Amino acid sequence: MDSKGCAIGVLTSGGDAPGMNAVLRAVVRTALSQGILVYAIMEGYQGMVDGGDQIRALQWADTGGIMQRGGTVIGTARCAAFRTREGRLQAAKNLLERGIDRLVVIGGDGSLTGADLLRQEWQGLVAELAAKGAISPETAAQHPSLNIVGLAGSIDNDFFGTDMTIGADTALHRITTALDQISSTAASHQRTFVVEVMGRNCGYLALMGALAGGADWVLIPESPPDTDDWETTMCELLAAGRAAGRRDSVVVVAEGARDRDGNSISSEHVRKVLSDRLGEEVRVTILGHTQRGGAPSAFDRWMGTLIGHAAVEALQAATPDSEPQLIGMRYNRVSRLPLMECVHQTHAVAEAISGRNYERAMELRGGSFKDGFRTFRTLLRALPHEPEPGQRRLRLAILTAGPPAPGMNTAVRAAVRLAVDQGHQILGVRDGFDGLIRGQIEELGWMGVSGWGPAGGSRLGSSRNVPAGADLYAIARTLETHGVEGLLAIGGWAAYQAAYKLFSERANFPAFNTPIICLPASIDNNLPGSELSIGADTALNNIVDAVDKIKQSGEASSRCFIVEVMGRYCGYLALMSGLATGAEQIYLNEDGVTLRDLQISLNDILAMYQRGKRLTLMIRNEYANPLYTAGFMQALFEEEGGDLFDVRTAVLGHLQQGGEPSPFDRIQAVRLARQSIDYLIDEASSGSTNSALIGMQEGRVKITGLEDMPRLIDAAHLRPKQQWWLSLKSLARLLAMPDTRQDAFLPTRSDSDGGAIRERRR
Ligand code: ATP
Repeated sequence: MDSKGCAIGVLTSGGDAPGMNAVLRAVVRTALSQGILVYAIMEGYQGMVDGGDQIRALQWADTGGIMQRGGTVIGTARCAAFRTREGRLQAAKNLLERGIDRLVVIGGDGSLTGADLLRQEWQGLVAELAAKGAISPETAAQHPSLNIVGLAGSIDNDFFGTDMTIGADTALHRITTALDQISSTAASHQRTFVVEVMGRNCGYLALMGALAGGADWVLIPESPPDTDDWETTMCELLAAGRAAGRRDSVVVVAEGARDRDGNSISSEHVRKVLSDRLGEEVRVTILGHTQRGGAPSAFDRWMGTLIGHAAVEALQAATPDSEPQLIGMRYNRVSRLPLMECVHQTHAVAEAISGRNYERAMELRGGSFKDGFRTFRTLLRALPHEPEPGQRRLRLAILTAGPPAPGMNTAVRAAVRLAVDQGHQILGVRDGFDGLIRGQIEELGWMGVSGWGPAGGSRLGSSRNVPAGADLYAIARTLETHGVEGLLAIGGWAAYQAAYKLFSERANFPAFNTPIICLPASIDNNLPGSELSIGADTALNNIVDAVDKIKQSGEASSRCFIVEVMGRYCGYLALMSGLATGAEQIYLNEDGVTLRDLQISLNDILAMYQRGKRLTLMIRNEYANPLYTAGFMQALFEEEGGDLFDVRTAVLGHLQQGGEPSPFDRIQAVRLARQSIDYLIDEASSGSTNSALIGMQEGRVKITGLEDMPRLIDAAHLRPKQQWWLSLKSLARLLAMPDTRQDAFLPTRSDSDGGAIRERRR
């Protein structure tokens, strides 16, 4: 695309969603960094039709300080006028007057359909405007076509073609937190709660919320209860749960829930049924707009940043004949698919539901949705299925090792229940491999893990000990004494190294000839065989929350913050939190830090403060450099910054490891636990001694042979050789640091100042 004389317009339309501001920031800054004019179209299509001050050119600093804000700072609206040709004619005129012939549209299926209609009509609209004299013939000739890209913005996660829509992860955070809170009060009084969540035709928020929040029943549009008298089934199950010792009962109802005949099921109906039949006082909580509001989650910020950047790249590459694209995320990577095909498939799910073709609706929702539903149906049982008569009952051991990672308990709970439900016995080992050495091992039952799902830390206890020497004899004895036929090791490097140690000592210890599987659980995200480990998303959210507060504390003064995050030799937390908070500099162990790097940073930062910037943020990984520590950097910048700015250091420490697991970590923990247990059962039943690492790679669960571990790791730095996220580093820098040599991008505001767009409107 010739960057001269062409401009991009960006709008948010339909319902607002947290994360839209991160997209806006990325679109504006990517465009400006390429020398392309970019306009915000305020209030969705209404601003496009109204024109004037509602379409305004943005500068670099205008998108400072907006990433942590919920909603959309450029406003959104429903616009009836844009549905008419007359309205779109006016919109085209307003765009052409500013040279805009490329649009980034962030919204739902309606907004994206509207954009495509404008694109299809463009030639006719331009010709009509030229014929009327509303635009000059030159303008008409310069803009013969309109290129659009669409980004799915909706908390409902109801869009085909992207794994996650912008805002869905944040909404899931709100729902999960609410369910945790409701469960604790419900348990105190032994009460039953009905919780209604948003999602319209899509059961994603209800199902994943129920899975993450440990609810006891869920009603979703895609898969209505399979009996006519589902009320009786539900009441019997909840009553059985109480009889088994459950103190709370929580039913999650999607707002679009329906029965097999397509009649809607309201939360009030569920409440009445439960209170009439169980004779209990039942409370309804409708979460409503709290699900939509508030600061975006770390994922919505970094995903929004990636797809906003990719949207501008797609527009740059577009030709007049290019098919419009939907830019989304699939398997943790940016994806590009034909926009209107995605819109049609999105409609197909809604049509399947209204046509009561539920099988097709579930099919269209995809594999993880279906798996999630299947797993949920097992986990919600009051008690497990009885073992089949004569079936072989395996004895499988579970332990957690390494520093506690949020999500470990979720994985243990799911593993225990999923194995016990298939008739097997689970032995819980206390304190990691130390427990195996000391013989601290006991059977874990169905109710023994009740309430573990949302709990942070590790209830089994953990240790970092990697056994060697005489300890191996002790472990072999424990495994033999307890007849262990398979081992699930959940944890970080200590778990992986210890598991590999047992594996490699098989010739000396016959007891180690049993299947072993390692499930990645470490906030550091530094384990082989998986792109993401359980706990890393929670830690990232903890960091982003802390940085939001740190930045706010510095608003009143001219300040540079150096924030040190965990990760050991792995820079994942540093880079992704830097991307999600707009850090100006990010220091990783992978790159190292040289005096020259610090000198360059200093020069950049000095230039920014000299031009009026008031706040900068640097994020460093704890092992970025052993000598150039956070303290050293603070002293250096403080001295060189003179009167321009103060420097403060925040070492976030263990707050990153604590707290309840994020919904993503809980959902992945359940998913990986299910597959780990299936693996152990398959291998042990067939007499195989295969052992493995389980993980997520490109969005799918992958199993890698344990024997491959040495090949996959950088043993000196205890991290995988390949780290997919490293390529995002240049993007973090591109979006955080304007080219200070270009006056057009004067950074008068920082990423914490914010409010530019709203203030300018007043
Ligand atoms: P959400 O999913 O949050 O409701 P949405 O984009 O589907 O978002 P809509 O109300 O359907 O929300 O659409 C938003 C705006 O997009 C409408 O007010 C209208 O201006 C425009 N729009 C929607 N559908 C069309 C269409 N078929 N033709 C032209 N414009 C449309």
